[in-house]
Formats: sequence, C-alpha cells, structure tokens
Amino acid sequence: MKITVVGTGYVGLVTGACFAEVGHVVTCIDIDSKKVALLKVGVLPFYEPGLDTLVERNLLDGRLKFQDDFLLLDEECKVFFIAVPTPSMPDGSCNLNYVINALQSICENTKGSIIVVIKSTTPAGTIFKLEQLIQGYSFQERTIDLVSNPEFLKEGSAVSDCMKPDRIIVGSNSKYALSELRSLYAPFTLNHDRILEMDAASSEMTKYASNAMLATRISFMNELAKTCEKVGANIHSVRIGMGSDSRIGYHFLYAGIGWGGSCFPKDIRALMDLSKSHDCPATILEAVYNVNQKQKGLLVEKIQRYFDFDLQNKVVALWGLSFKPDTDDIREAPSLAIIEALLKLGAHVRVYDPICMGSVKELYPTIEVCQDPYHASQQADCTALITEWKLFRSTDFKKLKMNMQGKAFFDGRNQFNPQMVESFGFDYIGIGQGRVISCEDSLV
Ligand code: NAD
Repeated sequence: MKITVVGTGYVGLVTGACFAEVGHVVTCIDIDSKKVALLKVGVLPFYEPGLDTLVERNLLDGRLKFQDDFLLLDEECKVFFIAVPTPSMPDGSCNLNYVINALQSICENTKGSIIVVIKSTTPAGTIFKLEQLIQGYSFQERTIDLVSNPEFLKEGSAVSDCMKPDRIIVGSNSKYALSELRSLYAPFTLNHDRILEMDAASSEMTKYASNAMLATRISFMNELAKTCEKVGANIHSVRIGMGSDSRIGYHFLYAGIGWGGSCFPKDIRALMDLSKSHDCPATILEAVYNVNQKQKGLLVEKIQRYFDFDLQNKVVALWGLSFKPDTDDIREAPSLAIIEALLKLGAHVRVYDPICMGSVKELYPTIEVCQDPYHASQQADCTALITEWKLFRSTDFKKLKMNMQGKAFFDGRNQFNPQMVESFGFDYIGIGQGRVISCEDSLV
C-alpha cells in the first residue's frame, strides 16, 4: 500500500521507516527542507537506536523517500499519517496549529477520497473539530475520513516499539477507514490481534490517560521518597515491595529527579486544560504536575545543603543530559533546570553525555563539555548522575575518586549501591534513601 507520513520527527520518521520495512511504499514529507535534504542521503536528524539501518535499507530498496513539497504528493496515495508537533500554548492548552496546517496541506493537494490518520497527540474532541474544519474539502465524489491513531512508541526503543506494539489504537466513525487501517497494520499484528477499535474521542483520551497514569506513578513515588528520607525508609526497597503485588507491578515506580521529555509535561498540561475547560477539576493531575516541578529542583537543593548553601565557584560534574537514556531529546529535560539553577548559584558546570552535549551547550554556552565522565569530574567538588545511560553502570569509583577534588556523589537516579560507592571514600546522596549519611550535614 502507498502511504504518506507528514512530519519526519521522532514519531513520523520511525513510523515511515517501519511501514517501509514491512513492505509498504512510504513517502515522508516535512516542511523543514534542510532535514529532508539530509534524509535523502540517509542522514538522520536525531539519534534513535536502530533507525539509521532501517532508513538506509529502505531508501536503497526504493520503499522510502523524502520530500519537502506538498505540491508533489503522489496522486495514487490514499492514506496520510500526520505526525507533527502538538506543543503547549503559553496557557498549557494544546497548540493544534501544526496539525491543522498539515491537514489543510493534504486536503488542498489531493483530489480523490483519502484517509487522514492523526498520529500526533491531540486532546479528545480534536478529530471532531477537524472534521468540521475540512468539510469544505469533501464533496459528493470525495470523502476525507479522519482517524485518531495515537502513538505509544518510546524514544530510545522506538523501532522495536513500532515493530512490536503492545496495542494499536484506532478511533474513527468510518468503518471503511478502520478496515483500511487494519490491513495496513496487519504485518504488525501477525502474532495476535493488537488492534483496538473505538470512537475517535476515546482514542485521543486513551493517549493522554496513559501518559498521565505513568507520570502519576513517578510523582507518587517521588512524593513518598521525601517521607522515606525523613523516616529512615528506602524508596528502592519500597518499590520492590510494592511492585511484587501483581496488581501494581514494578514499572514506572522509580523515584528520581523528576520526569521531563517531549510528551509527559505538555500532555499533562493539555489534559489539565481540557479537564478545566469542561468544568472538571483536574485535582490529581495538578498535584502530579506540581510534585514534578518541585522534584526538578530537588537535586540542586541537596547539592546546596551539602555545600552549606555556597556554590560559588564550586565545580559540579553532571553525568547525562538527555531527558532519559538512549535519546538525544532534551525537551523539558530535568538537566536543563539543574544547569540553569547551578549557573545562577555561581557554580562551574562540567558535563558529559554520549549524544546531546552540543544542543545543551547551545543553550548554556558557559558550561564545559567533556570527552568522558571522568574528564567531566576532573577536579570536581561533586559529581551528579542525571541521566542513567548504561555506560555509567560500570563506573570505576576508584578512578573517579582520584579524579575529583571533592567526595560527594549525587545519584539522581538511584543507580548505585550506597555502601559500594561509600567504600571508595565518597559521600553518597541518593533520592529517598533514608539512612544516616556520612557528610557533615544531614540532608533530611
Ligand atoms: P518532532 O518535533 O520530533 O517532529 C515533528 C516534525 O514535523 C518536524 O520535523 C517538523 O519540521 C515537522 N512539521 C511541522 N509542521 C509540519 C507540516 N505542516 N508539514 C510537514 N511537516 C511538518 O515531533 P515528535 O516528537 O515526532 O512528535 C510528533 C507528535 O507525536 C506530537 O504530537 C507528540 O506529542 C506525539 N508523540 C511523540 C512521541 C515521542 O516520543 N517523541 C511519542 C508519542 C507521541
């Protein structure tokens, strides 16, 4: 089948490449001409494990192509996916302008009946509004069916998430559109049926509800972590204890320095806005969001306390900058709030991240980017783990200790055994680990 994917970002490019991989003929279109020029020669605009191989293979085989001009849309293509941004407006509501522009470009540059699938995350009710908006483009011989098909891939494992999805949610009033999507997705559901059909508003709501639930679990643990520190409990043990209940499970119960990224923050804001605009107080969501805003400041607070609230000229090494491992995405990453606060307090910030130092340096030119974690920690007064890239797991703490001038290790992701780290002469400070620490001032 011929497919066009509009938007070649984290979602659009992965979707396009995966559809091509299973034999569909895919055109990816983006208004960013520079991006398109690079993609035409197989250069990816972002880092996503395994995606380069997929793009290269399908480009060579002629099943995947890139263009920047809607005037050149293939007349034979009848299914269009929209995967453009839906960022926050200043008031927290969802900005639908990119989706509307993409939809209008498709409608204006096609003739026959088409199906337009909205992969972008849109608030419940958007499909209905879009249907009203494009009424003028439909006439007797031409129908434009809209489908909500929210994306659940995770950056860092996007290719496998897309090739082996947990579920594929499709929401539409059009039986024809739903059956076409069933055929399109058939290669991904051979093992068992993963397609869940529903109305468009429920499909849109499912995406927000899923992200909100995951964010809630993390904020809940972060809130508990604070109490754990006060009462001498360990949030890590609590997670194991809770998670062993099969009704709860272990996932997304990690306390840390807060959630960020391109989806959770903006989606929670959009859901809060949607609830409020329908007179349904978003009490739980507001708490989830506020706990997270505070959590982003927690690490700096701990560093400040350790150094008696004087960070002037202190050298702070930060390990990891992306909002999570295996991605170069820094949108709303906790690292940004941390760097900003540290710089304001007069600290000298040295950073190491395997992928995204360049983009962070553009935002904060005074930080020092380093060639490896030990280099970042050279002469540092403290080291803080911000993003739990796997490469940090085998840290040589003996070497690290010799590199640093201070002895504080802040484990923002609770990745290390405190006793092990302390056995190398460090003061270990984690999150929610209520225990007597060896630095002078108790952090609790
Ligand atoms: P992105 O910013 O990485 O990419 C969006 C692309 O769309 C950009 O390349 C941009 O140039 C292009 N674009 C914008 N307007 C266009 C237009 N009118 N025509 C053609 N191209 C246009 O965005 P993303 O992270 O891929 O997110 C896309 C959508 O998917 C958002 O709604 C997001 O919430 C949702 N989503 C994202 C993820 C994720 O992990 N990134 C996961 C699930 C859902």
